[in-house]
Amino acid sequence: MREGNYQYNIHKIVQKYGTSTEIVFPTIIENRVRDLIETFNAYIKILGYRGRFYYHYPMKVNQNKEFVLPAVAEGANLDVSSRNELYLVKKMIESERFNAKIRVTCNGPKTPTYMDLIEELRAKGFNIVPIIEDYVELERMKKFGGPVGIRVNLNVKIKSHWDKKFNRFGFTEEELLKLGKVRNLTILHYHISSQMESVESFVKPLKRALELFQKLKEKNPGLDTLDIGGGAAVPYEKKRLYTGKNLIQRIVKTAKSHADKLGLRHPNLIVEWGRYVAAPAQMTIYKILAEKTIETKSDKRWYVIDGSFMNDLIDSWAIHQKWHVIPVNALHARKLVKTWLAGSSCDSDDKYTAGGMHILLPSLENVDELYVAILDTGAYQDPLASHHCLLSSPAKLIAGNGEIKLARKREQPEDVGKLFGW
Ligand SMILES: *Cc1c(COP(=O)(O)O)cnc(C)c1O
Repeated sequence: MREGNYQYNIHKIVQKYGTSTEIVFPTIIENRVRDLIETFNAYIKILGYRGRFYYHYPMKVNQNKEFVLPAVAEGANLDVSSRNELYLVKKMIESERFNAKIRVTCNGPKTPTYMDLIEELRAKGFNIVPIIEDYVELERMKKFGGPVGIRVNLNVKIKSHWDKKFNRFGFTEEELLKLGKVRNLTILHYHISSQMESVESFVKPLKRALELFQKLKEKNPGLDTLDIGGGAAVPYEKKRLYTGKNLIQRIVKTAKSHADKLGLRHPNLIVEWGRYVAAPAQMTIYKILAEKTIETKSDKRWYVIDGSFMNDLIDSWAIHQKWHVIPVNALHARKLVKTWLAGSSCDSDDKYTAGGMHILLPSLENVDELYVAILDTGAYQDPLASHHCLLSSPAKLIAGNGEIKLARKREQPEDVGKLFGW
């Protein structure tokens, strides 16, 4: 791995620190956030768009400090999805680590403790905007002193794993139009889906949302910002995708031409792209412990890893996520074999087969040891991680400015036991 003119020898690092291990590269987060903000601002200027741009890092994608701080350092605002995430924001505010200008949008169901915390931070003068999700929150927010946003469940269908037949987030378009005036309404928010692999999946909802925005603005003249949520994709498999630049250009272009067509003053734009920023910033590394035959597939064999797909990379199991898997050492091995990877838990679902295909890896015959790296694991896998069979979570290393730091040790038996009351 290279970082400017530094380089990291992953093989030597895992020989020293052992496996299973995750390595985080904060520089990748910094580059992606900086690039995203600069590209939006550049197209806003080039295309003569008159709204402002705000990037909000959605904390739920990865709440590890080593992810959040580099994003904030590059100018990211935050989007939180729960009281506990907002509590971390509060801690950062109290330790005076955050610039008072940072903007925080609050999604997710507002439990009473969540609302109390929103109000507490708002009273301290911070720019905390609750996004109203339902009628109960709407009622409660009538007493809220600051600006609020509202979430719409847009009536559009796009292609993605998460575009469900039934969506329970936010208000329907009809409901919003019947609400009339909402006190201090400044943001209209929607979040369509995640890992949206075509630019059209961004364009279609954007147009529809602008039309709704215009109608809502009649009774809510303070409405000035459209928050288009997350969804930018990562090329997990060897697949061609749009570039960030292309996507951003189309978004600004569409916002401008459609707002002009509607005679609407260009709204400020918020994006909350999480996966796009976080996924490429981490890799997960395992050692191959053993090799086993697969009874009915004589052309393939199991490689057993010293970790667990079901625990550490749960999307492999939950949504059949595919990953780039590459050998860490023996890169020039002559003899390659077709493998499926087996996790160390006792669960038959704890495996990775690249969707029933295979992973081509060096044969174990001619090597002393073999490590594999799973790439792009920085989004969602850590917060979803679990402890099936009471296996330990991986160690977490941070690679930055030419140095390796151990951020979290690999869990020891007593750490894991504690989680279960022992
Ligand atoms: C999950 C989520 C995001 C981030 O989505 P990505 O697909 O990771 O970009 C943004 N906004 C909201 C409201 C979300 O729930």
